[in-house]
Amino acid sequence: MQDVLNFIDGRHAPAASGEWLDDVDPATGEAYARVASSDGTDVDRAVAAAVRAFASWSTTPASERSKLLRQLARLIERDLEKLARAESIDSGKPLSVARTVDIPRAVQNFDFFADAVTQFSSEAHPTDEVALNYTLRQPLGAVACISPWNLPLYLLTWKIAPALAAGNCVVAKPSEVTPMTAHLLGALCAEAGFPPGVLNIVQGLGPRAGGPLCAHRDVRAISFTGSTRVGGEIARESAASFRKLSLEMGGKNPTLIFADADLREAVPQALRAAFSNTGQICLCGSRILIEKPIYAQVRDALVERVRALRVGDPLEPATEQGALVSRQHFDKVMGCLAVARGEGARVLCGGERASVKGRCAGGFFVQPTLLEGLGPGCRTNQEEIFGPVATLLPFEGEEEAVQLANSTRYGLAASLWTRDLSRAHKVAARLHSGIVWVNCWMLRDLRTPYGGVKESGVGREGGMDALRFFTEPKNVCVKL
Ligand code: NAD
Repeated sequence: MQDVLNFIDGRHAPAASGEWLDDVDPATGEAYARVASSDGTDVDRAVAAAVRAFASWSTTPASERSKLLRQLARLIERDLEKLARAESIDSGKPLSVARTVDIPRAVQNFDFFADAVTQFSSEAHPTDEVALNYTLRQPLGAVACISPWNLPLYLLTWKIAPALAAGNCVVAKPSEVTPMTAHLLGALCAEAGFPPGVLNIVQGLGPRAGGPLCAHRDVRAISFTGSTRVGGEIARESAASFRKLSLEMGGKNPTLIFADADLREAVPQALRAAFSNTGQICLCGSRILIEKPIYAQVRDALVERVRALRVGDPLEPATEQGALVSRQHFDKVMGCLAVARGEGARVLCGGERASVKGRCAGGFFVQPTLLEGLGPGCRTNQEEIFGPVATLLPFEGEEEAVQLANSTRYGLAASLWTRDLSRAHKVAARLHSGIVWVNCWMLRDLRTPYGGVKESGVGREGGMDALRFFTEPKNVCVKL
């Protein structure tokens, strides 16, 4: 069995306690590696290393930091195939997806923030001829980056890259469910030439490793992506210590399809929005709202396409839907399907465990599922399922579409489909959502503000917003 280790002060090491967790391949259901189960002792070491490294990293010229980020990007690119395979085995996602989406995006994250930090600037406020105020944007110190399992390296690097670029030292806590690519990143970071302590990675469970990290007095900011439940816990616990907090949390995103939409685009994209990464993307459109005159047509077209999705071994090139990430998550999604049936859902397709033969017979596969016949207020239409399950709801006119779209406690992303430009702008402005895609889904420009409203998030990541989060503004007032 391979060991998945902590990376602290430039070196890989097991947890101080000597304890381990199983790392399970969800496509087979079998443990294939063991993961360091860290606790407060490891966190203390990692934070101390970050604090020590901060003195010189924060004063290293931005151009030098930028060069190192680029170097790391090149090494990830060099190891793309190895990292993609590791990501696929750890998470159950198709290798083709890890190869074309996850790992290339990790490369892009480092390249993007390597550029961004060289363009980062701050304001000046001349007070007539009396004084000149200018704003310094200074790095914070040791910061925590906590990430989930659905896009493991992609989301971890989305946090690490701006934090490092801005001059902070990082203690990262990847998900215990998908720790492998973070382990591999540690070695690449050393090879790229990052000084010890600049990036530290602590593996292990949320409460046991992430808890002490969030509570640590020397951690100046926490950037968290994960569930709304855990985000709430972190917010409560860190309230007393007044540290900066960025929370990217759950979603129950609507896809709105108006009768005038170009259905040749809307139908395949609604399918993609619902079932990409087996529905395990926070941005997935899991509630498909369809205007009444085209409801039956769109439903039938979607059912046909969903039935054709190929569920199978993530390592097979033809596979479109891999395994769910873990036994626990599989049980949760199957439980949600039971709730939906109890609420009176009509199962249009799927609804069961998917059987995959051969080496994947014990894997955690669920058939891609479409449900209809449920009201907007039921649990199935209110709670995040985070699996290959979407509901269809009919609506009549703009007003009802907006009302249905806004009817959950979440507000991360929405996608709307119409040929009416004026309606697109009006509806986009009224949606409770941090991101609205018009006639597209998941078209990302890394400069844009990324995040959610209501219980989907607090703060924004992306572009200069991320560099602002990872720096503290200081006003300097010079009397003239
Ligand atoms: P999770 O909240 O269970 O875990 C996320 C991370 O937090 C993991 O590393 C976990 O170990 C850690 N953690 C758990 N308890 C902790 C604690 N008490 N203190 C500190 N850290 C703790 O989420 P998950 O199941 O890994 O991921 C799925 C969730 O993430 C979904 O709700 C999804 O919508 C959300 N998500 C949101 C975004 C976004 O950008 N808004 C992106 C991806 C995923």
